[in-house]
Amino acid sequence: MEETGNSINRFLITFASFSRELNTARNRVDIAGAIEKVLGRFFKLEACLSAAYDGVKWDVFKKDEGFPFDEEEMKSFYDLALERKSPSFFPLETNGFLVILPAVKSGKLLSSFFGYIENEDDDEFTQELETSLGFFSYYSGIVLENLRLFGEVRESARLQEELRKYFEKMLNSLDEGICVLDASGGFVFKNQKFDELELEEEIIEEIKAISSETLDQSAGQAREKEFNQGFFSFNSIVLAGGGEILVRLEDISNTKELERMKQIDQMKTEFIANISHELRTPLSAITAYSETITESLESLDAETLKEFMGTILDQSNHLTFLLDQLLDFSRMERKNLQIDKSRFNIVALIKRAKESTRELYERFNTKIEINADNDEMFVEGDEKRIHQVLINLISNAIKYGDKEEEERNVILTVAEVEDSEEIRISIDDNGVGIDEENLEKIFEKFYRIDSSLTYEVEGTGLGLAICREILLEHGKDIHVTSKVGEGSHFEFKLDKAKE
Ligand code: ADP
Repeated sequence: MEETGNSINRFLITFASFSRELNTARNRVDIAGAIEKVLGRFFKLEACLSAAYDGVKWDVFKKDEGFPFDEEEMKSFYDLALERKSPSFFPLETNGFLVILPAVKSGKLLSSFFGYIENEDDDEFTQELETSLGFFSYYSGIVLENLRLFGEVRESARLQEELRKYFEKMLNSLDEGICVLDASGGFVFKNQKFDELELEEEIIEEIKAISSETLDQSAGQAREKEFNQGFFSFNSIVLAGGGEILVRLEDISNTKELERMKQIDQMKTEFIANISHELRTPLSAITAYSETITESLESLDAETLKEFMGTILDQSNHLTFLLDQLLDFSRMERKNLQIDKSRFNIVALIKRAKESTRELYERFNTKIEINADNDEMFVEGDEKRIHQVLINLISNAIKYGDKEEEERNVILTVAEVEDSEEIRISIDDNGVGIDEENLEKIFEKFYRIDSSLTYEVEGTGLGLAICREILLEHGKDIHVTSKVGEGSHFEFKLDKAKE
């Protein structure tokens, strides 16, 4: 009983020291060292060899100088270790023993320890020793496997980190800002370019809005928008997994500016061709009528002469109008469109403007109606400039009338704006109308809608740009609503004159 107690104690002490050694083992050489130490407690080891087995070949990773066998001689011992997979003592022909301690995990031999004992006596190799060795073999197998697994995990973590760095480098080398947002609109990733852009709050809000739309519709979004900071393009996609959104954004201000400049360049070219044509038409008429008068003055009766002279006058007025428009445009470009405000009766001015377009509305067979709350409604503004605005708007309403329409109508309305110190002037027509896409563009300089009607009727594309500029100088603006095939409605407001 006491004998058993002693041997249990010895086993526990040996086991404790073996565990301590293994706990600090960092690699297979350390494990071999621990085995060597623990075996040293039982018998005197002269020299040792440790080799790992990968299922095909052996790899010696620790060998003492005095170990008596070379690789060729080891072959049979390797086979023995593989065959038995448990600790064994092999008596050598030249006296002594070879202790073989294989490390096995789940029936697989991972490595083996071979220790040379110069001892002729095998009394020491008791059943108890064999049991202990069996345990050490099993235990070192577990530790070896754990070390291998740990190595694998560490390697895979290293690879993942390398991969992460590689992708980050790629994303950072892009000239686009890239960010990823989670479902609640929080940023989970930003690349270097994104940070460098130092985006204003409004752009950040736009990114969040796009992200939430992408999530709601489960579909990528693409748009371009102008901000104080510049023109940006946005593209979003739902990332695999569904909960996160990737948004790419690019500063396209330069591209947009180039596009704009090209467009203006093209419009200028068209404008020059257009204006030459515009000037030639009245000039040709004036020349033709003047020649007829000069050549056939004697044969012309007073009535015909008056009619011819009237045409010359109309065409001269039109020439003056065109030249004035060019002059105003040049003033507008130089920000020199001066406004000289006074108090005047807008209803009377509208009547005059209607009269000024008589030639045009008669030629286009258009009826012009004036609706005013009163005969006298006084406003504050530059009378000459507002006259110009009215003539432009009325001329357009006549020119862009619908040929299919039985009766072409233009209605000019002057009305007080409720609860305000303003008066609204509106011009309605039942003309061809303007499609949604062109509603704002028509106020750009040189812009003319690309349609067959525009080519037929005279115009420079400057009228509405000048109208808007004049009204902006008054602290007002001009608005349009329209429906293709039904007609257009233009309106602007002026301040009521103080009594
Ligand atoms: P334009 O000298 O060509 O008339 P504007 O600047 O006055 O130049 O107008 C720009 C363009 O807007 C016109 O070419 C025409 O295509 C469109 N437009 C203006 N007014 C009307 C209207 N009342 N109805 C339909 N189209 C219009």
